[in-house]
Amino acid sequence: MRALVLTGPGALRVIDSNLPSVGPGQALVQLRLAGICGSDLAAYRGTSPLVRYPRVLGHELLVDVLESPGRPDLAGKRAVVEPLLRCDVCRACRVGRYNCCANLRVMGVHADGGLRDRFPVDTRNLFPVPENMPDEVAVLAEPTSIAHHAIERSGIGTGQVAAVFGAGTIGLLLIQLLRARGCIVFVIDIDAWRLEVAEALGAVTIRGDGGDPVDVVSDATGGETADVVFEATGNPACTRLTTELAGHASRIVLVGWNRGPVDVDTVTLMRKELDLLGSRNSASEFPSVLRVLSAGAVNAGTVITQRFSLGESVQALELLDDPTESALKVIIRR
Ligand SMILES: [Zn+2]
Ligand SMILES: [Zn+2]
Repeated sequence: MRALVLTGPGALRVIDSNLPSVGPGQALVQLRLAGICGSDLAAYRGTSPLVRYPRVLGHELLVDVLESPGRPDLAGKRAVVEPLLRCDVCRACRVGRYNCCANLRVMGVHADGGLRDRFPVDTRNLFPVPENMPDEVAVLAEPTSIAHHAIERSGIGTGQVAAVFGAGTIGLLLIQLLRARGCIVFVIDIDAWRLEVAEALGAVTIRGDGGDPVDVVSDATGGETADVVFEATGNPACTRLTTELAGHASRIVLVGWNRGPVDVDTVTLMRKELDLLGSRNSASEFPSVLRVLSAGAVNAGTVITQRFSLGESVQALELLDDPTESALKVIIRR
């Protein structure tokens, strides 16, 4: 059985390995499609604070369920994998927020992921995909769940104004879900090509290295600026700007990971009485995400830019690592 194993920073290879044993409460699944994302790239570069080596990558997974003794209804189905392994006993787990479990292990990060032919998955982490949903839409369930949870955290409503820092995969998914909710969306990025994609999705685009984004949003909203600011870059300068872009009595949702702590203007935060919210993974949202995807809220073609086979996974990571390439979501087919 083949597995894409990261043995250390920059050391990635497809190796032959044994099929891991399938435990109680688990199903045996076969990889169908996997998405590669920024956290896989961070693991590859050796900049992820969470990854330990060696590690099988892959946490955005569409699979075929081969055997599922405990949940026979899943056998033979296509399913998406919620890649979170939780402890069930910590405070977060007890209140149903296992997305930030104190002992959380994410497949492909803290535990082996799904970039391998076959692997066991806890049946509670498997969500069957509607029959008419294309594979390349279903494989976006995990990244869409990240955007979905950030929007749930924000409480944003129809007709409200969102400002999104970052037109990467998560930013573009945020734009699509927000537009589907009838929100007005401004997006700030420095990449002209990404901004073009965002504009085609109905966002008002702002070149972060051009004018002052705060002025643009302020002018367009009669000085009120945003009802919710989403930070989806992890860039400290963008994170600091969130308090400027947020209107009085509004909210900030941090969904991009900063590499270290960032100073935020707490005086502005107090003056405007802002809610500053973290958003991590998602909890109990995969069924809702699959409904949102079924309803056609996300155009897969806007975020999926390249496709490789499992044997070509090393090239896929190298492509993502190349700043001269226009790449967003790269897909691996088994
Ligand atoms: Zn991801
Ligand atoms: Zn827990």
